[in-house]
Amino acid sequence: MGSTHSYEPCPKCGYQFASHTLYYNIQQQSIFCERCGYSLLEDGQKCEESHGIGAFSLGFEGTVISNGSLAEGGIEELLKDFEEGKIVDKNGQPPTVLTYTFRENGEWYSKDLISDEVKLFPINLFSGKEDTDEVVE
Ligand SMILES: [Zn+2]
Repeated sequence: MGSTHSYEPCPKCGYQFASHTLYYNIQQQSIFCERCGYSLLEDGQKCEESHGIGAFSLGFEGTVISNGSLAEGGIEELLKDFEEGKIVDKNGQPPTVLTYTFRENGEWYSKDLISDEVKLFPINLFSGKEDTDEVVE
């Protein structure tokens, strides 16, 4: 299935690098914002839009990082599962990457649960890769 991937502004929060994938031969597009968790899946028939309160990233040794959006109460759930050691890969190993975003006083922050650090959400997560278009066959 052919697709193109690019970064475009998030229609909800305006983040410049929302991930936009277009599957050109089946007329489907998806948008995911790693800052606010907004997602859109659209094809010729339907349009599924979801507004999260934030987003999270999760990765394990030797795997690609996956992203998801957080619904209301999602942060509490994520913290609880992490503290109870429920977030593990198929070998029972803890994650190497686990961050989530949240908004406070008009700014977006990213909390890293592995290092226990809170940072301002980076303007560009993909350093050195600004607004590029890449084609994946
Ligand atoms: Zn957004």
